[in-house]
Amino acid sequence: MALIDLTRVAKVYRMGDVEVHALREVSFSVAERDFAAVMGSSGSGKSTLMNIIGCLDRPTSGTYRLDGHEVSRLDRRELARIRNRTLGFVFQSFNLLARTSALENVELPLMYAGVPARERRLRAAEALQRVGLADRAHHHPNQMSGGQQQRVAVARALVSRPRLIVADEPTGNLDSRTTVEIMVLFQELAAAGITVLLVTHEPDVAAYASRVVVMRDGRIRSDARQAPRQAAADLAAAPAADAGGEGEAQEVSA
Ligand code: ADP
Ligand code: MG
Repeated sequence: MALIDLTRVAKVYRMGDVEVHALREVSFSVAERDFAAVMGSSGSGKSTLMNIIGCLDRPTSGTYRLDGHEVSRLDRRELARIRNRTLGFVFQSFNLLARTSALENVELPLMYAGVPARERRLRAAEALQRVGLADRAHHHPNQMSGGQQQRVAVARALVSRPRLIVADEPTGNLDSRTTVEIMVLFQELAAAGITVLLVTHEPDVAAYASRVVVMRDGRIRSDARQAPRQAAADLAAAPAADAGGEGEAQEVSA
Protein backbone atom coordinates (compact mmCIF):
# COMPACT_ATOMS: atom_id res chain seq x y z
CA MET A 1 0.00 0.00 0.00
CA ALA A 2 1.27 3.44 -0.95
CA LEU A 3 1.79 5.96 1.84
CA ILE A 4 0.38 8.70 -0.41
CA ASP A 5 -2.26 7.90 -2.97
CA LEU A 6 -4.11 10.52 -5.00
CA THR A 7 -6.73 9.55 -7.55
CA ARG A 8 -7.89 12.17 -10.05
CA VAL A 9 -7.40 14.98 -7.60
CA ALA A 10 -8.49 18.39 -8.86
CA LYS A 11 -8.23 21.73 -7.15
CA VAL A 12 -10.13 24.73 -8.41
CA TYR A 13 -9.69 28.13 -6.81
CA ARG A 14 -12.55 30.52 -7.38
CA MET A 15 -11.69 34.18 -7.40
CA GLY A 16 -14.86 36.11 -8.12
CA ASP A 17 -15.93 34.97 -11.57
CA VAL A 18 -12.60 33.44 -12.41
CA GLU A 19 -11.78 29.78 -11.86
CA VAL A 20 -8.16 28.75 -11.53
CA HIS A 21 -7.56 25.08 -12.18
CA ALA A 22 -4.51 24.57 -10.01
CA LEU A 23 -4.64 20.76 -10.27
CA ARG A 24 -6.36 18.87 -13.09
CA GLU A 25 -7.20 15.30 -12.15
CA VAL A 26 -3.81 14.36 -10.83
CA SER A 27 -3.25 10.71 -9.98
CA PHE A 28 -0.08 10.18 -8.05
CA SER A 29 1.24 7.81 -5.45
CA VAL A 30 4.32 7.63 -3.31
CA ALA A 31 5.51 4.46 -1.65
CA GLU A 32 6.93 4.42 1.83
CA ARG A 33 10.69 5.22 1.83
CA ASP A 34 10.57 6.93 -1.54
CA PHE A 35 12.49 10.20 -2.03
CA ALA A 36 10.75 12.22 -4.74
CA ALA A 37 11.44 15.71 -6.06
CA VAL A 38 8.60 17.69 -7.65
CA MET A 39 9.65 20.22 -10.28
CA GLY A 40 7.81 22.57 -12.63
CA SER A 41 7.58 26.24 -13.41
CA SER A 42 5.95 28.75 -11.12
CA GLY A 43 2.16 28.35 -11.07
CA SER A 44 2.25 24.73 -12.28
CA GLY A 45 0.51 23.50 -9.11
CA LYS A 46 3.40 22.21 -7.00
CA SER A 47 2.43 23.99 -3.78
CA THR A 48 -1.22 23.14 -4.25
CA LEU A 49 -0.23 19.48 -4.54
CA MET A 50 2.02 19.67 -1.46
CA ASN A 51 -0.65 21.45 0.58
CA ILE A 52 -3.17 18.76 -0.24
CA ILE A 53 -0.68 15.99 0.52
CA GLY A 54 0.24 17.77 3.77
CA CYS A 55 -3.47 18.07 4.68
CA LEU A 56 -3.19 21.86 4.78
CA ASP A 57 -5.79 22.06 2.00
CA ARG A 58 -8.50 19.82 0.56
CA PRO A 59 -9.11 18.73 -3.04
CA THR A 60 -12.12 20.08 -4.93
CA SER A 61 -12.69 16.57 -6.28
CA GLY A 62 -10.94 13.23 -6.37
CA THR A 63 -9.68 11.14 -3.49
CA TYR A 64 -6.59 11.36 -1.35
CA ARG A 65 -5.56 8.45 0.80
CA LEU A 66 -2.85 9.04 3.35
CA ASP A 67 -1.55 5.82 4.84
CA GLY A 68 -4.75 4.10 3.74
CA HIS A 69 -7.12 6.68 5.24
CA GLU A 70 -9.30 8.66 2.92
CA VAL A 71 -8.59 12.17 4.14
CA SER A 72 -11.95 13.68 3.10
CA ARG A 73 -13.75 11.20 5.35
CA LEU A 74 -11.85 12.16 8.48
CA ASP A 75 -13.30 14.63 10.94
CA ARG A 76 -11.11 17.43 12.27
CA ARG A 77 -9.85 15.50 15.25
CA GLU A 78 -8.96 12.40 13.25
CA LEU A 79 -7.30 14.54 10.61
CA ALA A 80 -5.20 16.37 13.20
CA ARG A 81 -4.18 13.06 14.69
CA ILE A 82 -3.13 11.40 11.45
CA ARG A 83 -1.37 14.57 10.33
CA ASN A 84 0.59 14.84 13.56
CA ARG A 85 1.57 11.21 13.48
CA THR A 86 2.34 10.84 9.84
CA LEU A 87 3.88 13.97 8.43
CA GLY A 88 6.12 16.93 8.99
CA PHE A 89 6.08 20.04 6.79
CA VAL A 90 9.07 22.23 5.88
CA PHE A 91 8.60 25.61 4.14
CA GLN A 92 10.85 27.81 2.03
CA SER A 93 10.67 30.64 4.55
CA PHE A 94 11.42 28.43 7.60
CA ASN A 95 8.34 29.78 9.49
CA LEU A 96 10.07 29.87 12.86
CA LEU A 97 8.85 32.01 15.75
CA ALA A 98 11.30 34.91 16.01
CA ARG A 99 11.55 35.58 19.74
CA THR A 100 11.70 31.93 20.62
CA SER A 101 14.71 29.64 21.02
CA ALA A 102 15.47 26.85 18.58
CA LEU A 103 14.52 24.33 21.26
CA GLU A 104 11.15 25.95 21.92
CA ASN A 105 10.42 26.22 18.20
CA VAL A 106 11.05 22.51 17.84
CA GLU A 107 8.92 21.73 20.90
CA LEU A 108 5.90 23.53 19.49
CA PRO A 109 4.22 20.64 17.61
CA LEU A 110 4.53 18.50 20.74
CA MET A 111 2.93 21.22 22.79
CA TYR A 112 -0.07 21.23 20.46
CA ALA A 113 -0.16 17.45 20.73
CA GLY A 114 -0.29 17.68 24.53
CA VAL A 115 3.05 15.98 25.22
CA PRO A 116 4.25 16.69 28.80
CA ALA A 117 6.96 19.36 29.19
CA ARG A 118 9.78 17.05 30.21
CA GLU A 119 9.32 14.68 27.31
CA ARG A 120 8.89 17.62 24.95
CA ARG A 121 12.22 19.04 25.95
CA LEU A 122 13.99 15.71 25.58
CA ARG A 123 12.54 14.99 22.19
CA ALA A 124 13.18 18.51 20.89
CA ALA A 125 16.82 18.27 22.02
CA GLU A 126 17.09 14.90 20.28
CA ALA A 127 15.66 16.33 17.04
CA LEU A 128 18.09 19.26 17.16
CA GLN A 129 20.93 16.82 17.65
CA ARG A 130 19.76 14.88 14.62
CA VAL A 131 20.07 17.96 12.42
CA GLY A 132 23.48 18.85 13.89
CA LEU A 133 22.34 21.79 16.02
CA ALA A 134 22.60 20.46 19.58
CA ASP A 135 24.85 23.41 20.43
CA ARG A 136 22.39 26.01 19.12
CA ALA A 137 19.37 24.98 21.20
CA HIS A 138 19.13 28.32 22.99
CA HIS A 139 19.81 30.56 20.01
CA HIS A 140 16.98 32.55 18.51
CA PRO A 141 16.34 32.41 14.75
CA ASN A 142 17.93 35.86 14.20
CA GLN A 143 21.14 34.53 15.76
CA MET A 144 21.39 31.76 13.19
CA SER A 145 22.27 31.52 9.50
CA GLY A 146 19.61 30.64 6.93
CA GLY A 147 20.88 27.06 6.73
CA GLN A 148 20.75 26.70 10.50
CA GLN A 149 17.23 28.11 10.61
CA GLN A 150 16.12 25.65 7.98
CA ARG A 151 17.68 22.83 10.00
CA VAL A 152 15.68 23.98 13.03
CA ALA A 153 12.58 23.82 10.82
CA VAL A 154 13.53 20.28 9.75
CA ALA A 155 13.99 19.35 13.43
CA ARG A 156 10.53 20.78 14.15
CA ALA A 157 9.12 18.63 11.34
CA LEU A 158 10.94 15.57 12.72
CA VAL A 159 10.03 15.95 16.37
CA SER A 160 6.69 14.17 15.96
CA ARG A 161 8.60 11.23 14.43
CA PRO A 162 6.74 11.42 11.12
CA ARG A 163 6.99 8.81 8.39
CA LEU A 164 6.78 11.50 5.73
CA ILE A 165 8.47 14.87 5.30
CA VAL A 166 6.85 17.27 2.83
CA ALA A 167 9.12 20.19 1.93
CA ASP A 168 8.03 23.05 -0.36
CA GLU A 169 11.17 24.64 -1.86
CA PRO A 170 13.17 24.15 1.36
CA THR A 171 16.37 25.38 -0.28
CA GLY A 172 14.77 28.29 -2.14
CA ASN A 173 16.29 30.87 0.22
CA LEU A 174 19.67 29.21 0.70
CA ASP A 175 23.03 29.60 -1.02
CA SER A 176 24.44 26.67 -2.94
CA ARG A 177 26.67 25.21 -0.23
CA THR A 178 23.95 25.45 2.39
CA THR A 179 21.57 23.85 -0.08
CA VAL A 180 23.86 20.83 -0.36
CA GLU A 181 24.05 20.65 3.45
CA ILE A 182 20.27 20.53 3.68
CA MET A 183 20.21 17.87 0.96
CA VAL A 184 22.70 15.79 2.97
CA LEU A 185 20.19 15.96 5.79
CA PHE A 186 17.24 14.94 3.60
CA GLN A 187 19.25 12.03 2.19
CA GLU A 188 20.08 10.92 5.74
CA LEU A 189 16.39 11.00 6.64
CA ALA A 190 15.53 9.03 3.50
CA ALA A 191 18.24 6.48 4.35
CA ALA A 192 16.70 6.16 7.82
CA GLY A 193 13.40 5.17 6.18
CA ILE A 194 11.52 8.47 6.15
CA THR A 195 9.59 9.19 2.96
CA VAL A 196 10.65 12.54 1.52
CA LEU A 197 8.67 14.66 -0.92
CA LEU A 198 10.38 17.87 -1.90
CA VAL A 199 9.54 20.70 -4.28
CA THR A 200 12.38 22.45 -6.03
CA HIS A 201 13.03 24.74 -8.97
CA GLU A 202 16.59 23.57 -9.30
CA PRO A 203 17.66 20.49 -11.28
CA ASP A 204 20.79 20.39 -9.08
CA VAL A 205 18.57 19.79 -6.05
CA ALA A 206 16.26 17.30 -7.79
CA ALA A 207 19.39 15.29 -8.68
CA TYR A 208 19.59 14.13 -5.05
CA ALA A 209 16.17 12.46 -5.19
CA SER A 210 15.44 8.93 -6.44
CA ARG A 211 12.45 10.07 -8.42
CA VAL A 212 11.66 13.28 -10.30
CA VAL A 213 8.09 14.36 -11.00
CA VAL A 214 7.59 17.30 -13.36
CA MET A 215 4.37 19.32 -13.27
CA ARG A 216 2.93 21.66 -15.84
CA ASP A 217 -0.41 23.49 -15.89
CA GLY A 218 -1.82 21.47 -13.01
CA ARG A 219 -0.84 18.10 -14.46
CA ILE A 220 2.00 15.68 -14.02
CA ARG A 221 4.06 15.85 -17.19
CA SER A 222 6.63 13.20 -16.37
CA ASP A 223 7.57 10.94 -13.50
CA ALA A 224 10.87 9.08 -13.64
CA ARG A 225 13.23 7.20 -11.36
CA GLN A 226 16.92 8.01 -11.32
CA ALA A 227 20.12 7.12 -9.53
CA PRO A 228 20.48 9.94 -6.98
CA ARG A 229 23.62 12.02 -6.63
CA GLN A 230 25.20 11.68 -3.22
CA ALA A 231 24.96 15.00 -1.40
CA ALA A 232 27.55 14.04 1.23
CA ALA A 233 30.13 13.38 -1.49
CA ASP A 234 29.33 16.70 -3.18
CA LEU A 235 29.68 18.50 0.13
CA ALA A 236 33.02 16.87 0.85
CA ALA A 237 34.28 17.91 -2.58
CA ALA A 238 32.99 21.50 -2.27
CA PRO A 239 35.36 24.25 -1.18
CA ALA A 240 35.10 25.02 2.54
CA ALA A 241 32.81 27.88 3.54
CA ASP A 242 34.93 30.95 4.23
CA ALA A 243 34.60 33.10 7.34
CA GLY A 244 32.48 35.64 5.47
CA GLY A 245 30.01 32.96 4.41
CA GLU A 246 27.48 31.15 6.48
CA GLY A 247 30.06 30.15 9.08
CA GLU A 248 29.01 26.56 9.32
CA ALA A 249 32.25 24.93 8.30
CA GLN A 250 32.84 23.36 11.72
CA GLU A 251 29.56 21.45 11.62
CA VAL A 252 30.02 20.40 8.03
CA SER A 253 33.34 18.72 8.65
CA ALA A 254 32.02 16.85 11.70
P1 ADP B 1 3.50 26.50 -7.81
O1 ADP B 1 3.73 26.13 -6.38
O2 ADP B 1 3.88 25.45 -8.79
O3 ADP B 1 4.14 27.82 -8.16
P2 ADP B 1 0.74 26.87 -6.98
O4 ADP B 1 0.25 25.53 -6.60
O5 ADP B 1 1.10 27.81 -5.91
O6 ADP B 1 1.94 26.71 -8.04
O7 ADP B 1 -0.37 27.58 -7.89
C1 ADP B 1 -1.03 26.93 -8.96
C2 ADP B 1 -2.07 27.87 -9.53
O8 ADP B 1 -3.11 28.10 -8.57
C3 ADP B 1 -1.53 29.24 -9.87
O9 ADP B 1 -2.19 29.71 -11.02
C4 ADP B 1 -1.89 30.08 -8.67
O10 ADP B 1 -2.03 31.42 -9.01
C5 ADP B 1 -3.21 29.47 -8.24
N1 ADP B 1 -3.43 29.55 -6.78
C6 ADP B 1 -2.67 29.00 -5.81
N2 ADP B 1 -3.16 29.25 -4.59
C7 ADP B 1 -4.28 30.00 -4.80
C8 ADP B 1 -5.27 30.58 -3.93
N3 ADP B 1 -5.19 30.43 -2.60
N4 ADP B 1 -6.26 31.27 -4.50
C9 ADP B 1 -6.35 31.42 -5.83
N5 ADP B 1 -5.47 30.90 -6.71
C10 ADP B 1 -4.45 30.19 -6.20
MG1 MG C 1 4.91 27.00 -4.91
